Amino acid sequence: MKCQYCSELCVKIGRQRNGTQKFRCKACKKYQQENYLYAGCDQSKRNLIVPMLTNNMGFSGITEVLGISYSTASPAAPRCAVVLLLR
Ligand SMILES: [Zn+2]
Repeated sequence: MKCQYCSELCVKIGRQRNGTQKFRCKACKKYQQENYLYAGCDQSKRNLIVPMLTNNMGFSGITEVLGISYSTASPAAPRCAVVLLLR
């Protein structure tokens, strides 16, 4: 499996309590899974929040489309403001 953060190789490093295989990146040492039970834990979905916010999509639409909660999406608002200021 490739790392979600740096695309380096990950190695198996045990299982989560729910039985899902857990991986650890050899380069950045971050733990991750191949498939997530909770959508809010999936970094690829979290990376979509800021681009969606900067393209005038509201929080209710983002939570509906990505299947995440408001409390997962709302901390991205300050990063969205920075992106809009740099435009
Ligand atoms: Zn990595």
